[in-house]
Amino acid sequence: MYVLVTGGIGYIGSHIVLELMKLDIKVIIIDNLSNSSIKVLDRIIIISNKIPLFFNIDINDENKLDWLFLNYKISTVIHLAGFKSVGDSVKNPINYYHNNIGGTITLLTVMKKYNVYDIIFSSSATVYGVTKLMPISEKCALNPINPYGKTKLYIENLLLDIFKSNIQWNVIILRYFNPVGAHKSGLIGDNPSLIPNNLMPYITQVAVKKLEKLFIYGKDYNTKDGTGIRDYIHVVDLAVGHVKALFYMQNKHICEIFNLGTGIGYSVLELVKTFEAVSGVKINFTFVDRRAGDLDIIYADSSLAREKLEFHPQFNLDDMCTDSWIFQKNNPDGYL
Ligand code: NAD
Ligand code: UDP
Repeated sequence: MYVLVTGGIGYIGSHIVLELMKLDIKVIIIDNLSNSSIKVLDRIIIISNKIPLFFNIDINDENKLDWLFLNYKISTVIHLAGFKSVGDSVKNPINYYHNNIGGTITLLTVMKKYNVYDIIFSSSATVYGVTKLMPISEKCALNPINPYGKTKLYIENLLLDIFKSNIQWNVIILRYFNPVGAHKSGLIGDNPSLIPNNLMPYITQVAVKKLEKLFIYGKDYNTKDGTGIRDYIHVVDLAVGHVKALFYMQNKHICEIFNLGTGIGYSVLELVKTFEAVSGVKINFTFVDRRAGDLDIIYADSSLAREKLEFHPQFNLDDMCTDSWIFQKNNPDGYL
């Protein structure tokens, strides 16, 4: 039996694949490479010394998915494939609704046809939208404020509905906070194709002089130093969280939701200072206006994942900055 990882060539998926292969779990990756490079597959092979099955399949392509499920015995799907840029989703909502929701419907249709009912879905803290209640628990109100977050919430609701319709489904929804860091080999990491939207890859690109300086969005938030606070989590801890979820769901028929964060918030300035300390590189920055839609503080109540999944992140902010830096330094131009 195989675990199918959709979007397994991407940033988070590739780290999950490695954690699964470390435990000798048989993996199939599908990815249409719309936001990733096939070179990641070579690097997965170098790091693991194993060759996962890979197929260039779009989750919207029902015929190819049908072929896959007919020919391989799949026990569980870890579903990451989708578009993830908040800004892009505001400009191109149809693409987001089509790819994220449409693709998931096609995937679930084929899963059902082949009696594959176990799914772990990559959701996001973005589903919470605007809230002042910190830390955020899974029970907080959901009110995403951009099309990307809305597609995640639609899919969550779809999964809740299919579970209600047929108790054979076995669903875990993971709401990620802010994944950063990279594999300790320095071979795989976050590699945005355009100018990064997220803080950490922006900082690392300033550090290798691909970008001139960091623009810090807002210095008058109601926080200790005036800059925004987020819950950064090392991508390898996040990947391990999926393995824990996979073990937890075995032989169950559940539909459960977990935050995956560390439960600790760091400000933009703390991240910059930590990065400078571990890398020895000065990060030029300037303060600019707040970014539309940003909240002052977001961090997870991660107690549910701690208790039920035994999820205990191992890496601290130093590790996150060090590993992001090593990846960027080794790959200043990405996977060229
Ligand atoms: P990523 O873009 O690096 O990986 C996603 C992968 O999916 C890419 O390799 C892309 O080529 C592939 N893909 C996209 N559409 C596809 C399709 N129709 N068919 C097949 N493959 C397709 O992104 P990531 O950071 O690894 O994120 C993975 C998942 O986690 C996404 O669903 C994202 O929304 C979610 N998530 C990410 C973050 C984050 O900050 N990175 C935070 C919360 C949630
Ligand atoms: N941020 C910033 N400059 C950037 C990118 C992000 O100051 O170029 C800030 C942003 O305002 C937020 C934090 O860094 O306070 C994390 O932003 P990111 O986009 O990485 O995550 P998200 O806001 O989606 O949680």
